[in-house]
Amino acid sequence: MMMRGTGGGRGYGRLLNTPEKPERKADAKTVRRVAASFKPYWREVLVVLLAIMLTGVLGIVNPYMLKFSISIGFGQQRFNLLAIFVAVMVVTPIISSLIGIGQTYLNAVIGQRVMRDLRNKLYTHLQHMPLKFFTDTRTGEIQSRLSNDIGGVQSVVTDTATSIVSNVTIALSTIIGMLALSWQLTLLSLGLLPLFLWLTYRVGNVRRSISKDTQESLADLTAMVEETLSVSGVLLTKTFGRQRQQIAKFDQENEHLVGLQIRQQMVGRWFFAFISTFFSITPALVYLLAGYMAFGPGRPPMNGKQLADVVGTLVAFTTLQSRLYFPIGQLLNVQVQLQGAFALFDRIFEYLDMPLDITDKPGAVPLDPATVSGDVRFNDVTFRYSPDLERPTLDNVSFEVKPGQLTALVGPSGAGKTTITYLVPRLWDVESGSVTIDGHDVRDVTLESLGETIGVVTQETYLFHATIRENLLYAKPEASQEELEAAAKAAAIHERIMELPEGYDTVVGERGYKLSGGEKQRIAIARVILKDARILILDEATSALDTHSERLIQAALEDLMQNRTTIAIAHRLSTILAANQILVVNAGRIVERGTHAELMEQDGLYAKLYREQFSLQPELDAVDEQASEVGELQELVLD
Ligand code: ATP
Repeated sequence: MMMRGTGGGRGYGRLLNTPEKPERKADAKTVRRVAASFKPYWREVLVVLLAIMLTGVLGIVNPYMLKFSISIGFGQQRFNLLAIFVAVMVVTPIISSLIGIGQTYLNAVIGQRVMRDLRNKLYTHLQHMPLKFFTDTRTGEIQSRLSNDIGGVQSVVTDTATSIVSNVTIALSTIIGMLALSWQLTLLSLGLLPLFLWLTYRVGNVRRSISKDTQESLADLTAMVEETLSVSGVLLTKTFGRQRQQIAKFDQENEHLVGLQIRQQMVGRWFFAFISTFFSITPALVYLLAGYMAFGPGRPPMNGKQLADVVGTLVAFTTLQSRLYFPIGQLLNVQVQLQGAFALFDRIFEYLDMPLDITDKPGAVPLDPATVSGDVRFNDVTFRYSPDLERPTLDNVSFEVKPGQLTALVGPSGAGKTTITYLVPRLWDVESGSVTIDGHDVRDVTLESLGETIGVVTQETYLFHATIRENLLYAKPEASQEELEAAAKAAAIHERIMELPEGYDTVVGERGYKLSGGEKQRIAIARVILKDARILILDEATSALDTHSERLIQAALEDLMQNRTTIAIAHRLSTILAANQILVVNAGRIVERGTHAELMEQDGLYAKLYREQFSLQPELDAVDEQASEVGELQELVLD
C-alpha cells in the first residue's frame, strides 16, 4: 500500500523536484520579506550598522597619525606631539577591535535568532502540509531547506549585509581621506581603478561560470555513483553485463571535471598575480608623481621641514590607498552575494507560501472522541490524486460502516483500497461526495479531533528512535504504567517487552534495538489500543510471519477491533471471515459487497480472489472445515 509518489502535473512535485530551477530574480517583495524577518531585531541591527561605520571611519585615523608623526613629530622635531600621535595610533586599533568583537556578537545574535524564527515557522508550516506534499517531494529536499538553506541565513547577515555596509564605509572614508591629502595623487590612484574593477569583474564572471559547471559536474558524478553503486544499481549493471560502459561513462565525466578544476584554479591564479602586481606598481607611480610635484625638474629645492611634510603625506597616502582596493573589489561581488542570499530566502519563502490545502475550515467544530459512536459513511465519493488524472482513483464510492462493525476491503493491487482509508482521517480530501462520521462531514470538524477519533495501524510500523515507553505514550502522553501494560498485554507484546534488556525503557527505532516485524506490529497495535480511538483503520501486513507470530497478531487484532468501527484492508482470512461486510474494490469502484458466504455464492471477483489469494493461507483448510468457528469469530466482533 505504498504511496506511489508519481506527482501530478500541477502538484508540488513539478514545482520542487526540477533539479535546475531557473534563478529567480530577487524582487522587491522578497527584499521586503527578508527585511521583515529582521524587523524584530531592528535595535541590534542599528547598533551593528553604527559599529561598522565607526570602525570604517576609525580606519583612516592611523594613516593621518602617521602623516602627523612624520611631518610634525619628525619634521619639526617635537617629541611630545610625536608621543601623542603614537598613543592615538596605539589606542585606535584597540577600540576598533573591541567594537569588532561586540559587532560579531550582535551579528551572531541577530543571525541565529532570525534562523531560529525561520526554522520554527517552516517546521510548523511543514507539520500542517498535506500528505500530498510529502509524497511529491524528495525527502532530502525538505531536510535540506530546513537545515542548509536556513543555515545559510547566518552568513547572509555576517557576510553579505555586513560586507556591503563596511566596504561602502571604508571605501568612502578612504577616498575622502585621500582627497584631503592630495587630489592629484588621488586622481592617479583612482585613475587606475577602472582597469582594476573591470578585471575583477571579468575574472569574477569567468570564475562563476566555471564554478557552476564544476558544481553540475560534481553533482552528476555523485548521482552516477549513487545510482550505479546502490545495491539495485549494481544488480542491474551486473545482470546486464554493463560494467564496461558504466566505467567508460564515469571516466568521461571524471575527465570533464579535471579540466574544469584546473581551469578554475588557473583563473584564480591569474587574478591574484594581477592584483599583487597592481598593488606593487601603484604606490611606485604615486611616489614618482609626489616626487615630481615636490622637487621635479624646474622646481626650487625644499628644506627639511617641507620634505618631512611631503614624506608624511606620501606615507599616509599609500597607507590609505592600500585600504581602498580590497573593499571596492568586494563591492563588485556584492551583486552575486546578494543574489545568492536572496535565492536562499526565496527557497525558504517558497515553502512557507505553499498552501495548506487540508486545514480546519472556519467554524470547524471538534468531534468529541468520547461520545462519537463511529458511524462512517462514504457518500458518492469521487477522488483523484491529481486533477489531471483522466480516470478517477475512486469513482462514486458509497458505503456505510455501522458503529462497532468491521468492514473488510479486498481487491486487486492498485484498486484503491488504501486510498479509501486515507479519506477518513483527511489525509486527502474528496473531489466530490462526502465522507461523514456520525453524520458530520469530516471537512467540517477539526483535524485535531479527527486525529483523536481515528486510530490507524499501517502495514509498515513506524517507531521513533526512543524507548518503547515513549513510543507507546505517543498515543496517550498521560497514560499510567498500568494502562501501558494493559495495552501491551492486549497486544500480546508485554511479555516480550519484559524479556528485553531494559524492558519498557529499551530504545527502539532507527538505530535502536531491532524488533522483529511481528513485534513491531504488536507494539503498533498496543499503541492504538492505548489511544482507544473509536474508529480504527487497519492496513493488514501482507508480509508473511511465522505461525506463532501470526497467531499473536491475530489475537491482538481481535482485541483491538472489539467494539470499534473498523475499516480493514484485509489480507488475513480471519479478518475477512469476521467482517460484517466485505467491500470488493476494483479500479476505484466497489464492485461487490456482502458477507463471505454471500460473495462466494455470487461467484464473482471475490470468489476468484479468494481462491487465488486465500486458499494458500494455512488456516484456510482448518477454518473451512470448522465453519462454526467462523460463526464464533463473527459473533465476537458483532459483540
Ligand atoms: P495495493 O493493495 O497494491 O496497495 P490499493 O488498492 O491499496 O493497492 P491504492 O494504494 O489505493 O491501491 O492506489 C490506487 C491507485 O492510486 C493506484 O493506481 C495508485 O498507483 C494510485 N496512487 C496511489 N497513491 C498515489 C499518489 N500519491 N499519487 C498518485 N497516484 C497514486
